[in-house]
Amino acid sequence: MLVVVAALFFAYVSWSYSNTLARVATAEKAVALTYDDGPNPPHTQALLELLEERGARATFFLKGRNVEAFPELAAQVAAAGHEVANHSYHHHAMGSLRKAGMVAELQRTNALIVDATGVEPVLFRPPFGVQGAGLKRALEELGMLSVLADASGADWEVTDPREVADRVLADVGPGSIVLLHDGHGDVDEPREQAGRAHSVAASALIIDELRSRGYRFVTVSELLDLAGG
Ligand SMILES: [Zn+2]
Repeated sequence: MLVVVAALFFAYVSWSYSNTLARVATAEKAVALTYDDGPNPPHTQALLELLEERGARATFFLKGRNVEAFPELAAQVAAAGHEVANHSYHHHAMGSLRKAGMVAELQRTNALIVDATGVEPVLFRPPFGVQGAGLKRALEELGMLSVLADASGADWEVTDPREVADRVLADVGPGSIVLLHDGHGDVDEPREQAGRAHSVAASALIIDELRSRGYRFVTVSELLDLAGG
């Protein structure tokens, strides 16, 4: 009996995660840089300047609460050609919510992003990478896709830019999705967010190194279009 229950539980968890994306299967030297928890001035601004200087595009998983506080900065992110995506409104672990609560978090954030940028997000990154039962159905209802990452700088605990970059560079390959942060998910007040200068500095190191290896930088949606190529 216990074996059956365990097998069913395993099957359910596998199913819950079955259309989650962490890396795109492609031979092309393309990667998607992703930034979570913003917009967070002045670090998002600094990042936009760096990305423009380097001619790289990225995907920003925006926190609804921050979009509400800084709609003009969210608009700048989209206007610069980056992909804007959804990272929930409150940044709660989705596992703590029922499906209706998840849908509410996603819809509220999508509405704020549409108001600020005119763009309706199709990608969602679950806070803390925690999906929770019901998320797959919530995303299906909204026609959205959950995006994790396969190369992380661990920039929430590592503050040396070289070390953040080295962690990413150790794991990155064709089709990789790189996880970095321009804000702080666990800080509720959008105007009390701490520094992310090390993440911006690490981004410069990552872009320069990967470019010398022949990589180009695309949005997550563009990376999806390369699947199988
Ligand atoms: Zn986050």
